[in-house]
Amino acid sequence: MDNLSPNLPSPEALDSFWMPFTPNRQFKAQPRLLVSAKDMHYQSHDGRQILDMTAGIWCSNAGHNRPKIVEAIQKQAAEMDFAPTFNMAHPKVFEFTHKLSKLLPYDLKRVFLTNSGSESADTALKIALAYQRVRGMASKVRLIGRERAYHGVGFGGISVGGIPKNRLFGPLLNGVDHLPHTYQPEYGRFIKGEPEHGLDSAEALERIITLHDASTIAAVIVEPVAGSTGVLVPPKGYLKRLREICDKHDILLIFDEVITGFGRLGAAFGADYFGVRPDIMCMAKGITNAAVPMGAVAVSNRIYDTFMQTSETPIELFHGYTYTGHPLACAAGIATLETYAEEGLFARAADMAPYWQDAIHSLKDARHVIDIRNLGLIGGIELEPRAGAATARAMEVFNKAFDAGLLIRVTGDIIAMSPPLILEKSHIDQAVEILRKVLSETE
Ligand code: PMP
Repeated sequence: MDNLSPNLPSPEALDSFWMPFTPNRQFKAQPRLLVSAKDMHYQSHDGRQILDMTAGIWCSNAGHNRPKIVEAIQKQAAEMDFAPTFNMAHPKVFEFTHKLSKLLPYDLKRVFLTNSGSESADTALKIALAYQRVRGMASKVRLIGRERAYHGVGFGGISVGGIPKNRLFGPLLNGVDHLPHTYQPEYGRFIKGEPEHGLDSAEALERIITLHDASTIAAVIVEPVAGSTGVLVPPKGYLKRLREICDKHDILLIFDEVITGFGRLGAAFGADYFGVRPDIMCMAKGITNAAVPMGAVAVSNRIYDTFMQTSETPIELFHGYTYTGHPLACAAGIATLETYAEEGLFARAADMAPYWQDAIHSLKDARHVIDIRNLGLIGGIELEPRAGAATARAMEVFNKAFDAGLLIRVTGDIIAMSPPLILEKSHIDQAVEILRKVLSETE
């Protein structure tokens, strides 16, 4: 790639942006830029069509630049750019939360709005702790997360999260324990969908509760399927078992559905897919099709009513963001939820999932591949790590795939894919073909 291309920013401009989660110097020596997007594709700065098999970052579930969503944002920007939601509000925020609450499962009908998944995770933890206090259970202050969990980058999220590199920021929250992660290759690799075995890993929750006593524990937080750490699909019955243990000990169960929400598994939410009721649910990403940043936290009616009925302070939850319920995000959110419904995209994801499963598992015999995992329209391909190399093998695959016209995500030596739910079988075939070739050409 020509680093002097007229479409590329100057070295000074490149250096002005401290890029997140990126080896900055490496990237800026050979930048890869996306300049426009439509449906399943990005266009790169050098004019190539790039097939997006990651829906941006697990977020553009309806594909890119959908006219209905774009027009809704443009109309709202022209009408009213911003309005506060503290002691004041605007109609679209209620229209949006009402529409969302109709989609939400079980009794999760009350919605707090944030601007990202990280804010949703921290908000959910704060609501859980405040709820225990408001209902007179102030000793319930401990939180339980999980190894290999990702709940964003706020201090709450990294405390309950289970990625060692994410936690190198000081002592973090007190009173946090971690369940073991659910990836158990000793029960077999290349498992399609939910593993049959491994349910016993849920019993670790009982052991943590025994250690600290249920009277000290506020909440357990898990992703229904751990996404960012490499697509770890829980064994059959696992989430149901966590629910039973939480019920037995009067502990709240929080699902972080930032990835699994909005059709990713072929149902509206992971809670629907697995048939398990959380008390609190975190959302972001697909909530606005990523066209405007937004996150949300849904709570059960019981939690909301407890605050409304028993909180002694005039402000029930001392928490919120300037941009909570931003008008542009609400407009995008309404148009997004309508798009999902009008196009039946969650059912479409369910219909496409078997083809997706067979296609990605066909890479079982591709070079370097040591495991493949999938559920709904998520796939993870694990590569054998290579010793002593400066760049992980998967990163080399990422770069080569981009040059061949395919966008994937990598985490360590795992390739993760989560295509827009509008994809056709031909897109899946094309992605698998490029990956097979790129893997064969990677040392
Ligand atoms: N929770 C989960 C489960 C996520 O996957 C992510 C992002 N990948 C987050 C939280 C954080 O979201 P954000 O980057 O919008 O803060």
